[in-house]
Amino acid sequence: MHYKLFIPGPIEVSDKTYKAMTTPVFGHRSKDFVELYQSVQPGLQQLFQTKDPVFISTSSAWGVMEGAVRNLVHKKVLNVCSGAFSDKWYDVSKRCGKQAEALQYEWGEPVRPEDIRERLKTGEFDVVTLIHNETSTGTMNPLAGIMAVLREFPDVISVVDTVSSFTAVPIPKDALGIDVVLTGSQKALAMPPGMALFSVSERALKRAESMPDRGYYFDFLEFLKNHEKGMTPSTPVIPLIFGLRSKLEDIFAEGLEQRFARHEKLNGMVHSWIDRHGLETLPPRQFASKSLSCVRNLHDWDIGKLNKLLRESHNCVIDGGYGKLKGKTFRISNMGDETEATIGGLLEALDRVIEKL
Ligand SMILES: *Cc1c(COP(=O)(O)O)cnc(C)c1O
Repeated sequence: MHYKLFIPGPIEVSDKTYKAMTTPVFGHRSKDFVELYQSVQPGLQQLFQTKDPVFISTSSAWGVMEGAVRNLVHKKVLNVCSGAFSDKWYDVSKRCGKQAEALQYEWGEPVRPEDIRERLKTGEFDVVTLIHNETSTGTMNPLAGIMAVLREFPDVISVVDTVSSFTAVPIPKDALGIDVVLTGSQKALAMPPGMALFSVSERALKRAESMPDRGYYFDFLEFLKNHEKGMTPSTPVIPLIFGLRSKLEDIFAEGLEQRFARHEKLNGMVHSWIDRHGLETLPPRQFASKSLSCVRNLHDWDIGKLNKLLRESHNCVIDGGYGKLKGKTFRISNMGDETEATIGGLLEALDRVIEKL
C-alpha cells in the first residue's frame, strides 16, 4: 500500500523515475553502458557546479563518507559535529583507525566558521568533514563562510555532505573550493535509495595517491581510472542510473534556478504554518534548512497518533524526530518534486488531524 512520504528521506519518488528504472539492464562493460554513464556526466557536473569528474557509487551516502576518510586522512581529521549524521562521521573516522577530533555543537546549533579556523590553526589537521544540511536537526550550516575559512588552509582537504540539500539550494563546488562534495539518491534527489554521487578535486585525488589503506570498493583512484573509460569499478546499480538520467531531464526541464526558487517557496509555506501554530524551528530561523523543517513539539502533540491519523485519513506521513529528538521535534520534508499543491495539501491535512489529537 502506497502512502506519500513527507519524511526527510527516503522521499517520494515519481512514477516517471520508477518507470525509467524498469529499462532492461545491459552489461556494465558494454558500449551501451559507457553511453549511459557518459550521458549523465555533463548534467551531473552542472549540478555539482564543477569541472571535476562526478563518480557514481553503488552504496548509500555512508559508503562515500567512510571512503573519504579512508582516502584522505593522513594526519588527523576534524569532524564538525552538530547532529546525528555529523556526530556519526566522527565515530566512523575512529572506526577507520584515524586520528580524529570532534568540533562539537549542540544539536540545532549552527556551525561557526571562526571555531573551525581556531582548530585548523593548530596545524594538526589535514581533512575537515562537514554536513551542509544536518537532516536530523533541520539545520543548514553557513557553507560560504565555512569555505572562506577553509581556503585559508590550502593543505586541508574539505569533505562536504550535501545529502539533503543537493539541488535544493546552490552548492557551487569549484567556486567555493570544496574538495569532495557527496550526496545520496533517496533524499534531495527524490530517487530510491542505493546510489551515491560524489565529485573529487584534483588535489584530493593527489592526496589519495599517497594513502596506503584506501581499500578497494571506495578507492577514489579506482573510480577515476574507470571513469576515464566511462565505467565504474564494480557492477553498478544500473536501474538507478536510468532513474538518474530521467531525473536530470526533469531538473533541467524545470531549470535549476526555478528548482531553487520552488524549494524556497515551499519551505516558506511550512514556516508560515509553523508560525501560525505558535511553533518554532529547532535551529534559529536564520539557519533553518531550506529542504526540511525540524519543528520543536511545543504543544506536546502525540506525533505517533498524529502520523497514524495522517496515514489513515490522508494517506501520507511526516517524521516523528530523529534519535534523541524523537517526540521532542517532528520533521517535514519539502525536498524533491513537491509542489505548492502537495505541500499545501499536507499542511491542510495536518490542521485537520491536529483537531483530533
Ligand atoms: C541520510 C543522510 C546520510 C546517510 O545516508 P545513507 O543513505 O543512510 O547512507 C548522511 N548524511 C545526511 C546529511 C543524511 O541526511
